[in-house]
Amino acid sequence: MPNKVSYDAVVVGSGTNGLAAAIRLAQEKLSVLVVEANDTIGGGTRSAELTLPGFTHDLCSAVHPLGIGSPFFRKLPLERYGLHWLQPEFPLVHPLEEGVAAVVQRSLEETAASLGADQTAYARLMGPLVGQSENLSAEFLQPILHWPKHPLLLARFGVYASQSAARLINKKFKGAPARPLFAGMAGHSFMRFEDIPSAAIGLVLGMLAHTVGWPLPRGGSQRIADALAAHLRFLGGEIRTGFRVEHLDQLPLARATLFDLTPLQLLLLMEEKLPSSYRRRLGRYRYGPGVFKVDYALNAPVPWRNESCARAGTVHVGGTFEEIAAYEREVVEGKIPERPFVLLAQPSLIDPTRAPSGKHIIWAYCHVPNGSNFDMTERIEKQIERFAPGFRDCIVARHKMNCEAMEAKNANLVGGDINGGAFDLRQLLARPIFSPTPYRIPVPGFYMCSSSTPPGGGVHGMCGFHAAEAALRDCFR
Ligand SMILES: Cc1cc2nc3c(=O)[nH]c(=O)nc-3n(C[C@H](O)[C@H](O)[C@H](O)COP(=O)(O)OP(=O)(O)OC[C@H]3O[C@@H](n4cnc5c(N)ncnc54)[C@H](O)[C@@H]3O)c2cc1C
Repeated sequence: MPNKVSYDAVVVGSGTNGLAAAIRLAQEKLSVLVVEANDTIGGGTRSAELTLPGFTHDLCSAVHPLGIGSPFFRKLPLERYGLHWLQPEFPLVHPLEEGVAAVVQRSLEETAASLGADQTAYARLMGPLVGQSENLSAEFLQPILHWPKHPLLLARFGVYASQSAARLINKKFKGAPARPLFAGMAGHSFMRFEDIPSAAIGLVLGMLAHTVGWPLPRGGSQRIADALAAHLRFLGGEIRTGFRVEHLDQLPLARATLFDLTPLQLLLLMEEKLPSSYRRRLGRYRYGPGVFKVDYALNAPVPWRNESCARAGTVHVGGTFEEIAAYEREVVEGKIPERPFVLLAQPSLIDPTRAPSGKHIIWAYCHVPNGSNFDMTERIEKQIERFAPGFRDCIVARHKMNCEAMEAKNANLVGGDINGGAFDLRQLLARPIFSPTPYRIPVPGFYMCSSSTPPGGGVHGMCGFHAAEAALRDCFR
């Protein structure tokens, strides 16, 4: 690309954070170029026929409570560009032994009522969060170092969110089904349940299930990226694919450059330009466990023993609280446990566009130690069979991705880490550095806008939005 072509802003990487940053800048009538290494846009929101023609799988994200709940996405006319959220009847079902299952319904009251002895505890825990979810989301979807608009609300959330999942579960819930149900939601943190703040993710995901749901985009996650890209182009922005940035001098001149990349890649790209103290801080940035993912083409829906599972968008397959806790602990400690906690989505149950008539797809992954290339397929299928005998007979084709394959498809997935860095107490506070504006790279005009900045992993675009706001303040006002 000739260097003389100049833009107000260039964004490296077309994940949802890169696209969100570009849109926010283009909204201010700035000229914006997004460059993307892959031939298709979207990063963690891409879909493709991974198994067989006619079966549309999501390479990465599939279920989008954070997407539908994103304060920035909600202001954009994404429906006009083909984004339609589909809500499954139940956001989440968690099967247990003997055909029993715990169910998260849209209604908080109905969910609590199904939890037996834990009815009141669940309602008391989730009720205040659900009642104030918009205010609360606005607080935690930004850097932790900020003046809160709702300090009391945030303090109340903090009391529970700053606990370990094990402590919260042991203190609040007496038995199944509430204990494994909350454990499954906390399992999205990739943390040991003994570590803080592993409870936080469980609380946020539970709250979102009762407020905005856990929807899937019709046609697959790619539709989110495509709708964002279409809106960006409408605003005058440009996107170039097949453009891997390996040296800064490949980039056109710009007043602001935003990187939808993680610290490791930024170090490789900018090392000698960065002040040594910042380099050291980025060098200490930690990546979390990786994932092993299998996408299935099926000739029938999964034959769940419990029929509620067949009405859910997401199914958490892992058994009891103790089993899931042991699994997550071993993964963080670098071991490959026998019985994985499988996060499974069944898009074709509510979206006929995803598979040929009568056929189905399943999206399933489990956590593994960072960089592990152990093939978990057999163990994943054994777990699903445990709650859905006959599952294997439905499989027509499967597509596997280990940590290496993940990273090969998207350089941001370092060692298979899907969140752009570990979510632990240190990196909740310092992501990637401790600052009210952690998006700013200490080189004028350079910013980081990926999920390695607050509020972190997930498809919500808020990292991109805040990074663009910082660039607007510094470079364009
Ligand atoms: C298996 C899996 C399951 C997930 N499930 C969910 C889910 O259900 N719900 C949810 O909300 N989130 C989920 N996530 C997480 C979510 O996908 C990410 O948090 C989100 O995509 C992060 O967005 P981003 O813009 O920060 O980065 P990314 O989406 O990773 O985008 C980064 C982009 O930068 C590009 N890039 C990298 N290096 C270069 C370079 N040198 N030059 C040019 N371009 C470059 C990449 O190709 C990529 O397109 C999942 C992720 C994975 C992998």
